[in-house]
Amino acid sequence: VGRERYSREQQEYYRKYLSGPDWRARKQARMVAAGHRCEWYTAGVRCGRRTRLCVHHNTYERLGAENDADLDVYCWPHHMLEHCMWVKCQRCQDPCLEDATRAEHWLRIVLGVLGIDQDALPAWTNLPNKEVLMTQVPAVCSSCENYLLERGMNWANS
Ligand SMILES: [Zn+2]
Ligand SMILES: [Zn+2]
Ligand SMILES: [Zn+2]
Repeated sequence: VGRERYSREQQEYYRKYLSGPDWRARKQARMVAAGHRCEWYTAGVRCGRRTRLCVHHNTYERLGAENDADLDVYCWPHHMLEHCMWVKCQRCQDPCLEDATRAEHWLRIVLGVLGIDQDALPAWTNLPNKEVLMTQVPAVCSSCENYLLERGMNWANS
């Protein structure tokens, strides 16, 4: 889901729904449909991880009555990537992480710094939330970074 704004009433409804039994049941059914495996693809290869799974809304259009296609089952790292890949370059407005392959590489580095091993993920309570990771996305995309570097500048002083 993009950066659309929601009214206070919508946000309140969303918060209530997501903490209630209807969403719990909907989420469970969607996990079953996914075979309890991550549905993320990078360069045509499905992740398929079976642990730390989340159900992500790719649209809020039918919130409370979602179709299977409105929801994606992602493992925690890929759920974080889905959100981080929406962060836009402050110079050209293209997504900073550009594509899933680059984004995977970026996430591995960031999680390494945080001491999180993607192949042995810690408990939910020890995983940072998406807002924390989104602040780690670079301010500019790699082409803008190269453009600035060639001119001896960086985003902060350009
Ligand atoms: Zn999500
Ligand atoms: Zn995954
Ligand atoms: Zn850019």
